[in-house]
Amino acid sequence: MKALDELTFDNRFARLGDAFSTHVLPEPIAAPRLVVASPAAMALLDLDPAEAETPVFAELFGGHKLWAEAEPRAMVYSGHQFGSYNPQLGDGRGLLLGEVYNNAGEHWDLHLKGAGQTPYSRMGDGRAVLRSSIREFLASEALHALSIPTTRALCVIGSDTPVWREKQERAAMVLRLSPSHVRFGHFEFFYYTKRPEQQKELGEHVLAMHFPLCLEQPEPYLAMFREIVERNAELIAKWQAYGFCHGVMNTDNMSILGITFDFGPFAFLDDFDAHFICNHSDDQGRYSFSNQVPIGQWNLSALAQALTPFISVEALRETLGLYLPLFQAHYLDLMRRRLGLTTAEDDDQKLLEHLLQLMQNSGVDYSLFFRRLGDESPEQALARLRDDFVDIKGFDAWGELYIARVAREGEVDQEQRRTRMHAVNPLYILRNYLAQKAIDAAESGDYSEVRRLHAVLSNPFEEQPGMESYAERPPEWGKHLEISCSS
Ligand code: AMP
Ligand code: MG
Repeated sequence: MKALDELTFDNRFARLGDAFSTHVLPEPIAAPRLVVASPAAMALLDLDPAEAETPVFAELFGGHKLWAEAEPRAMVYSGHQFGSYNPQLGDGRGLLLGEVYNNAGEHWDLHLKGAGQTPYSRMGDGRAVLRSSIREFLASEALHALSIPTTRALCVIGSDTPVWREKQERAAMVLRLSPSHVRFGHFEFFYYTKRPEQQKELGEHVLAMHFPLCLEQPEPYLAMFREIVERNAELIAKWQAYGFCHGVMNTDNMSILGITFDFGPFAFLDDFDAHFICNHSDDQGRYSFSNQVPIGQWNLSALAQALTPFISVEALRETLGLYLPLFQAHYLDLMRRRLGLTTAEDDDQKLLEHLLQLMQNSGVDYSLFFRRLGDESPEQALARLRDDFVDIKGFDAWGELYIARVAREGEVDQEQRRTRMHAVNPLYILRNYLAQKAIDAAESGDYSEVRRLHAVLSNPFEEQPGMESYAERPPEWGKHLEISCSS
């Protein structure tokens, strides 16, 4: 276990130089204090969890202090936002403080979000509010607990610094951890500004640091692109299987590692709704829940375009063609497991679509349905669940098909079935109204609810005594929260 001053830095991205990032110091926030820390994320740096309670922790992650070996940099990138190319992006309010490597030799970027203005701030104030920082923190750690690849969050630091959004709020910082902060938009930046040398330098850096096995392939860039396609297909399959809506899948918010990145007005589905739009400024529904699948491919083609200097168009096209079939295979595999099925049959896709249509028509709670389906034998579970459906006849017809399907798997021990299903069907998910309650309390200075919610969500598959209310369906007010995209 290490203390804060024992972290070891090796700032590889900073060493690429000024064409890739700019040296900027964090601007401190007033009266920094710990809102919440993740012991599991601290462990990634071998940090003693007790360090979070020290004054220096809040000073470091509130921008007041800096390690001598840190080299804070604002990265430059561009990207496609809502389908249109924006040449002028970059870290407008976040800084890569440096790269720390742990005892296992893994590198982690320390990125401080909300650290003040940079050359890429455009009209922005360089700040992040407490509300959005808490949401990013909770979502990162909750997704990780669901085994969904994501950046991690070490802590949120609150402050007295006022910031203006729709109303006056307080500034906060979130310390994000990721093996890399390179986005699709990094490659797009050097491609569209026609700087092939630097694009190559970036590509070689990314290959060496994050895709070393691809360097052993005859065409390393093609192997890397293939890997990125595969990882994104799997990531988005997981989002769809667990009802996670990212909300702003712009290419500057897509990680080259294929992990969930840059949290905005995200949401987990409460009632199942394929057309759900969690971002209130997304008028066209470009990033609606079901559109995440084709948008994943759209984003990969934007990356492919930026990689044309390295890879032939035919090879890119062929590799892009892998995305949909891979997505479908992963998604179906996950959903079979959620349904408690251990074998594969040709009609499983139809069985699933039939269920989702019934859930859609009746506004059935997406997460609880699967959890309850494993609670009891299929017959008993269906008898209880049917009350949630408006079209009871329709649901009974589906139930018959499901029971016949389960029967074809042979004898099943209900105890084992429950254990197997509960291990993939979470009881606790980060519902918007739960996040909102924790945010309301934190905004009035009480951080206990954020900490409790974080603890509950760190163990989402296991029933936690006394925490029953966190597993409930949202109250009516909690279903239709307008999540502001300002942050
Ligand atoms: P985001 O919506 O957080 O993914 O940000 C999109 C772009 O806007 C990125 O270049 C951010 O750095 C920048 N940005 C967002 N909010 C601010 C802010 N308050 N101040 C400066 N730049 C910002
Ligand atoms: Mg972003």
